[in-house]
Amino acid sequence: MSSLWRDSFLYADYLRVQRLLRSCGVKGLVYLSPRHFYLDFVEIPITTRCNLLCPNCANLMPAYESPYDVDTDIVIKSIRKVAECFDICGHFRILGGEPFLNQHLKEIIAEVPSEKCLKVSIPTNASIVPDDLELYARLREKRVTVVMGGYPSSAESQRKLISVLDQEGVMYELPHSDTWINYGEAVSRERSRKEHVRQFARCRLRAKSVLNGVMYYCPRHAHGFDLGIIPRNAGEYVDLLNNTASQNRREVRRLMWRHAPIEACKYCLRGIEKEEEIPRGV
Ligand code: SF4
Repeated sequence: MSSLWRDSFLYADYLRVQRLLRSCGVKGLVYLSPRHFYLDFVEIPITTRCNLLCPNCANLMPAYESPYDVDTDIVIKSIRKVAECFDICGHFRILGGEPFLNQHLKEIIAEVPSEKCLKVSIPTNASIVPDDLELYARLREKRVTVVMGGYPSSAESQRKLISVLDQEGVMYELPHSDTWINYGEAVSRERSRKEHVRQFARCRLRAKSVLNGVMYYCPRHAHGFDLGIIPRNAGEYVDLLNNTASQNRREVRRLMWRHAPIEACKYCLRGIEKEEEIPRGV
């Protein structure tokens, strides 16, 4: 494959359409028409609290001096606002920090629009094995897949969690690889406009992140802004809770198919010429 094609926005768009066709077949093309909306991938962080705090966390959890649970009411309103935007969502994810630390997880899961999502998941570091049977029932009803971290420090509790999930009939997945991509420290780097554009086109991260009622292009931008490290410019986020449904639909669509780099890319090493793979959970 030529590097010109691989580094182009058209290639990123092509991959997105390919995922849709793989999941829905040719009839999936209807979701690309102006009257419908296919949202590729969205994730909703419900807490910035984490009990592992891996130093290279791409989402910057160790940088929170005062980690917090996102207000449950705001999370629920955000889920409803996002859900009214799309006709079908490729992947809907609830995450943390460590989501099992949030005591309102059950209420939050109840709001997930599973019926319009091809996949719903919750990533966990697997260090916690909840003892609330109702939570497992909710996960099962909503067809949520629990995605394990596979971190060496949680090996024992991960085994226990798998055994409970098996018993309760909840789907789960183990990590596909032993590595992460290194996003680097969240510090601004000097890059030419051309390099910046190329980095953004090469970045394969497609998860939009909804934090405190606002949708960002990616989790690094959401948390970087929340931490006061990364600024945000008009057009790089959607103020879900203060918009009407039609405004959200229009702006979320624009964000998803965006071709111009965002401010956060200056603070990130993903998509650069030599992305670095690092061991998971360090
Ligand atoms: S900041 Fe830019 S390069 Fe980094 S993950 Fe987000 S979109 Fe990709």
